[in-house]
Order: sequence, then C-alpha cells, then structure tokens
Amino acid sequence: MVMKTYIVGNWKLNFTVGEASIYLHKLLKALPNYRDTEVVVAPSTIALQPLSLQVDRHKMKLAVQNAFYRDYGAFTGETSFSQLRGLADYAIIGHSERRYIFREDDKMVAKKVAAAIRNKITPILCIGETESERAFGETADVIRDQLIGGLSEVSDDDLDKVIVAYEPVWAISSTKAAKIATPDEIAEVVKLIRKNLADTYGEKHSEQVPVLFGGSVNPSNAGAYLTVPGVNGLLIGGASLILSEFTDIIETAKRVRA
Ligand code: PEP
Repeated sequence: MVMKTYIVGNWKLNFTVGEASIYLHKLLKALPNYRDTEVVVAPSTIALQPLSLQVDRHKMKLAVQNAFYRDYGAFTGETSFSQLRGLADYAIIGHSERRYIFREDDKMVAKKVAAAIRNKITPILCIGETESERAFGETADVIRDQLIGGLSEVSDDDLDKVIVAYEPVWAISSTKAAKIATPDEIAEVVKLIRKNLADTYGEKHSEQVPVLFGGSVNPSNAGAYLTVPGVNGLLIGGASLILSEFTDIIETAKRVRA
C-alpha cells in the first residue's frame, strides 16, 4: 500500500469565519484531485461547522486545532471531540503551543488522542524537543516520552489511526529566534520515532504510521523536507496562511512524491 503524502495547514488563531471561508473557496478552486496527496487545513473551531458544509471532501479535509477529551459534562468553555464528529476529519493534538502555553502534559495529550480515535477523528500527535532540551542532549528522551506517553491509550490495532508530527519547538516560526532544521537533523529524529514505534508496537504496526515534519516549512524548503527518509508529509503554520505559498507546497508535494 502506498502511503499518502499529508500537507496540513495549521491556521492557529487567525482568520475570521468569513476570511476562512473565502480562503477555502479559493483553495478548492486551485486544487485538482490529488489522489495520493491529502490536503488538510485546521481553522479555528468556530469556523469548522460552516467550512464543513463548504468543503469538497474529495479534494481536501478539515482538522480541529484542539478539543477536550470528555464527550460531555460540566466543562465550561470546552468543545468535545464527539461534538466535532463529522465536522473535523483530523485533530492536531499535543502542539507545542498547547503544551507550553496551556500546560498540557502527556497524560492530557494521551486522553485527547484516545478521544479523537473514539470519535472517528484522526489524531495528529505533535512531538518535539525545545532548543535547550536539544542542547542538553535530551532529544531522544523527550521524543520517546512524548511519543509513547501520547500514545499510551492507543491499542496496537488502533495505531494505524494515528499520525505523528515531529515539530522541533526551536524550528517553529513563532518561536523567538527560530532556526531552520536541516534534513539530516530531521532524518535522525524521524528514525528515532520509527524505532520507538517499532519497539513498542512491532515493526508491522509502526510502518503504517505517517510521520510529518513541521517547523518553518515554506515553498523553498518543502521539497527537501519531503525527501527526508521516513517523512510522509508536512505540518505548516505561517506559510499556510498565504494561499499562494500553501498551494506551491502542495504542488511541490505532488512533484516530489510522484
Ligand atoms: C506549527 O506551529 O505547527 C508550525 C509548524 O508553524 P510554522 O510553520 O509557522 O513554523
């Protein structure tokens, strides 16, 4: 089975519902049907309902940026994965902004991953070390802890319902003095991710997990990142807000992975 290439845009806290709808309209017009490329955008939760009526799911899919792990109850202000069922196809979980601004730990992340799967939404589990963790030689430990911790409620049989995104915090464009990750640095960590998956779940299950890279991806580096061994796609923040850059990256994915 050929694994798809995933191009996922994380819009973060940007765009009004109207702006999101106009962007989606233009993106849908620009996108032909790429059978082997899964294009996904993650708007604000409030935009998911209207966009889910507008989107052509033969062409692309929608992701939620965050949701709560309980399906209902006294959790003021939260939105549950069960409420998002049918609206979001994917969920970004464990993003470094959730971990460091909103203090989400691996236990919380694990519950969210399980809740997404339970509600037929594919989790995109984000993991990645900070600059100081890398400097202190802790990258392998952080990657293992976030990966195995985040997947701790996922059974072997459900592993093929999960996507992992390697996002070194130091390479994310909103990080102060962000650096550009080299393909070799990414390859090394992706290898670690696949080894951890194989050690925990077995080779056969681990091979089915798409691994994405995210961190200052733009049209000029996307091609190099997509050819890193073991990388099956990209998670894109800043560049996904600019339609022409996002479509350039999608075109690159189609070309590089053809
Ligand atoms: C992100 O925050 O997930 C991300 C990858 O952002 P950027 O592409 O802007 O570095």
